[in-house]
Amino acid sequence: MTEEAQGPEQSSNPDTDVIASDGGDQGGLLDNPERRSFLKRAAIGGTGALIGGAATYGAAMHSLQGRPVDDYPSIDEKIFKPKDQRDVVLNFVSSKALNQKHPERNEQYNRLQNKEFDWVAGIKDMYSKPWDNSKPGYTQMDRALQKAGWAPLNIAGSRGSANLQPDTPLNSWDQSDVEQEQYQFSSKQDASNAIKSAARVFGAVKCGIARRDKRWDYDPLYDIENEKELSWEKDFPFEPKTVIVILTPMDYDCISTAPAWTADGTAADGYSQMGVKATQIATFLQGMGYQAVGAGNDLGSSVPYAIMAGLGEGGRNGALLAPGVGPRVRIAKIYTDFDFVEYDEPHSWGMTDFCLSCGKCAEACPSDAIPLPEDKNGGYAYEPSYEFSDEPGYTWNNHHGIKKFYSDAKRCYNFWVENGSACAACIASCTFNEPDYWHHWFIMAINPVTPSFLHAAMAEAHPAFGYGHTNDPKKAVKFWKSGEGMRVNTGMKNNIGTSNKS
Ligand code: SF4
Ligand code: SF4
Repeated sequence: MTEEAQGPEQSSNPDTDVIASDGGDQGGLLDNPERRSFLKRAAIGGTGALIGGAATYGAAMHSLQGRPVDDYPSIDEKIFKPKDQRDVVLNFVSSKALNQKHPERNEQYNRLQNKEFDWVAGIKDMYSKPWDNSKPGYTQMDRALQKAGWAPLNIAGSRGSANLQPDTPLNSWDQSDVEQEQYQFSSKQDASNAIKSAARVFGAVKCGIARRDKRWDYDPLYDIENEKELSWEKDFPFEPKTVIVILTPMDYDCISTAPAWTADGTAADGYSQMGVKATQIATFLQGMGYQAVGAGNDLGSSVPYAIMAGLGEGGRNGALLAPGVGPRVRIAKIYTDFDFVEYDEPHSWGMTDFCLSCGKCAEACPSDAIPLPEDKNGGYAYEPSYEFSDEPGYTWNNHHGIKKFYSDAKRCYNFWVENGSACAACIASCTFNEPDYWHHWFIMAINPVTPSFLHAAMAEAHPAFGYGHTNDPKKAVKFWKSGEGMRVNTGMKNNIGTSNKS
């Protein structure tokens, strides 16, 4: 709008009123040489500030894109091999046949940890602990939230997908609905854009596209319900070329209650959303004439695929750290034979390096499953470095030979069973798990250029500002009040899973 066109509206501008009352009128104000000079300096300063601000904003936006990295993954070829699905803890504890085959795994764990833990009974015991309505986070209402979170997977007969069961109704391998005619995109960029647009419609907060990489696929696959090996070549319906990766957010206030049962409400919902969204995107691809299968934690390791798709970096807690949400996301994958796409590449925001000096997740972990920074090699090596990891056979569940942080998933699972629910304290406590405020994005943007000696101080500042505390009953009380104001939510702060209350 031009000045002339603004006309009478200008007088109603409160800023104009302030200047006018100060100078009597605008003409008088501009007649005064000192004021003219002041205004000139202010105008120059303001323009400079605007240019400086715009440049800073541009630099911050550029920084949030991350820096492409060409050294991921760093692999020791002498040790590395594709991971056998049967060696994933949640798969192992869900299979009677595997437990009968490997009694030494239970025996060794119990002997070293001084426990009498029943691995197979544990997964059933977990959700049958009685509630206590006098204990915030462990009440009937918290259990009901958790149960409701799992409902979509249960109704779809696909609950097993959370424990790596492949070919469930939601993530079916059936390709009989693939259209005969194949839609042709005019460019790879158009194809990628279309897939990501569809992913957003279905509720993904981020979507990246990676080449299929056999290093990250479980091999062999394992059908837990029928206790049999599955082969990519003989059993999987097609040869995948591409893996689309989507991130589904978990609610900030809800996850903050960890390790209370409340937190599993959003984690369980995350699993359900993984199944629903992956199926929707697979169906979208099938409708365009391409074969596709959705997957949650099954088929392959989700974290390296998400890193390959440029969505984040690996954290000390073993999770994906995504810019803006940290580890507070669930990852789903869609395997497809469609390959006329612009692939994404791994990027860095300096988050894995930050983990070297942080360790808040390890401090919060109730089962000591995550190595602290001062541990051997900082817990950042080709081999696990936590207690008992040098016992022969103890690390059967780890994927060896990758430069990454290793944790002890056996201890983690043991705590879940004792707790009566999954935990998520390593997600809630993470320095990168923050509400969706602009200043958190700014800190994210400058992290790559922040000297590493400041990282430890930044990690300490996080709880000092009230973030990341776990095992606090007040969080559950607070969570159940966080729905207040949801009708008006002017900042749309729950777009990445926070109600703007914390
Ligand atoms: S989920 Fe809980 S027990 Fe498991 S590693 Fe994370 S903090 Fe530790
Ligand atoms: S809490 Fe700290 S060390 Fe742990 S994953 Fe988050 S940033 Fe890394």
